[in-house]
Amino acid sequence: MSTENIIIKGVPVSPGVAMGEAQVLRDRMFCVVRRHVPASLVKNEINRLKSASQKVIEELKTSKEGAVRAIGEPGANVFEAQVMIASDRQFFDSVAARIARDRVNAEFAYQEALAETLNRLEKSEDTYLRQMVHDIRSVSERVLSFLLGVRDGSINGFDHPTILVGRIFSPGRIMTYSQKNLAGLVTEEGGPTSHMGLIARSLGIPTVMGDFNTAGALTSGTQLIIDGNNGEVIINPDAATWRNYRRIRLRKRSQPFAVLVKSRSIEPVCLDGKRVTLAANLEIPGPLDEHLVRLGIGVGLYRTEFLYFKNQAFPDEDQQFEIYSRIARRFHPLPVTLRTFDLGGDKYAEELGAIREDNPALGWRGIRVSLDAARLFRIQLRAILRASVMGNIRILLPMVSDAREIGEARDIIGRIKRELRRSRVPFDKDVRVGAMIEIPSAAMAADFLAEKSDFFSIGTNDLIQYTMAADRGNHRVARYYTGHHPAVLKLIQMTIQAAHNNGIPVSVCGEMAGFRTMTPFLVGLGVDELSMTPTQLPIIADWISRFSYYDAKRFSSRVMRLHSTEKVSRALSEAYDYVKKQKKGGWLEQAR
Ligand code: PEP
Ligand code: MG
Repeated sequence: MSTENIIIKGVPVSPGVAMGEAQVLRDRMFCVVRRHVPASLVKNEINRLKSASQKVIEELKTSKEGAVRAIGEPGANVFEAQVMIASDRQFFDSVAARIARDRVNAEFAYQEALAETLNRLEKSEDTYLRQMVHDIRSVSERVLSFLLGVRDGSINGFDHPTILVGRIFSPGRIMTYSQKNLAGLVTEEGGPTSHMGLIARSLGIPTVMGDFNTAGALTSGTQLIIDGNNGEVIINPDAATWRNYRRIRLRKRSQPFAVLVKSRSIEPVCLDGKRVTLAANLEIPGPLDEHLVRLGIGVGLYRTEFLYFKNQAFPDEDQQFEIYSRIARRFHPLPVTLRTFDLGGDKYAEELGAIREDNPALGWRGIRVSLDAARLFRIQLRAILRASVMGNIRILLPMVSDAREIGEARDIIGRIKRELRRSRVPFDKDVRVGAMIEIPSAAMAADFLAEKSDFFSIGTNDLIQYTMAADRGNHRVARYYTGHHPAVLKLIQMTIQAAHNNGIPVSVCGEMAGFRTMTPFLVGLGVDELSMTPTQLPIIADWISRFSYYDAKRFSSRVMRLHSTEKVSRALSEAYDYVKKQKKGGWLEQAR
């Protein structure tokens, strides 16, 4: 069988064509080989172990200091516990004794001793001891990576276009590598709405996800082509395929941004005159900003946590003030919706000292982190409030599950306002505070949340994952992750109605806002704003101009009566085909 041109089909995550050499990165897996060590070098091995342990202790202490600065002493305790584990003299002595007794290399002795310890702890009846397993694993990964010289951070860049292959990549890693010859990504997890997918798209890094058995078929050094438009990965392409894709890549390179850049105006107005506000989702300020301003498009969602990923550290108050002021000034008088840090889940932040959780999506994330890490939250809110006089800033709270959280956040905002007033620092006293509706409990209690909110923004990416109990980044459950399920539609409808009953506007800022199949439905339900990835803006505006609000309302009511995902999907796709042909009227009747 030829080993050239092996084509594997996956799921498209971020469009574009990438060509380069594969670099397989596996997390939490170390290839530890047993090496015989002559007696004369035993001391050397023990010294290597000592030095690796010392480096880990120093690294953990630095992380602890960062965590104390960010969230205060109690939250940084995780690092304290890990420093104690890394300094455990008894364990160190047992590994050193093993090196001397068996004449083996330090990493091998370390891994053997570790396996015995973990085995004992995992079987323990004592919950406290079992919980230590997490911390021990985390410390041991650091020690082993120093011993093996495979530190993640040691990958400073690639000297030629490289396609990273791995289970999943954090937004932080992608941002770091994107400046260093990263051509594309091939992953086993992290679908189009995952945070990895969002950042890959906003940085224009072609990405494909799938079951590639990355350890086997794709090895480091293999030549790869990935086609992020149709989700294909070509392993070892022959010369003709390579040439062909080089041409395609040249043609497609600037395509996604071209429509927006060339647009003279964006008019999201239905045939009968109803106007829908369109807004942009931004992760990082980019080259498209000037075009957004020119086209009168504000920012419906600014994911501020990406400021953390960019530097792997929290910017201080003045740095954040600068960043928020710049964006507020640039977009003034258009609104800029600053979502407070939505960290946790797949947006892991080392400085928060969060241990890796078994169920991160259901864990310490978003507003939960902010309310607990009060110091970090206060810094961000102070910076936002100070910047609020520079433009039209709105504050958006992520992952709200209960009205209490909005109340607590508002109390903190109120206290900061009083402080600023006392120190005569100007701020916009009417700055609006809104809630993301992305958890079913929030949607179902939207009436109560609306009383405490100035606006809502529906995060369908999470709302779908929590309603359907299907991880947004797991391709094995991708077919369960659907926004066409009647339950998801009901939650969206309830949220819009609750907002309007309470006289506040509601936006949709999940990826669904940029899907043409969903546009007539969402507009028909009465959503006030659709906020999306900027490249979709002209496409959605064009779509809105092809149907009437009257028809859209009737269509939405019909869809709301459909009992199954299949029926909803069929109705949406029939409506899509109809709108595409730009026929006026009549398509509602077909969309059963
Ligand atoms: C969402 O959940 O739909 C959303 C917009 O937030 P994020 O994708 O950042 O979780
Ligand atoms: Mg979300």
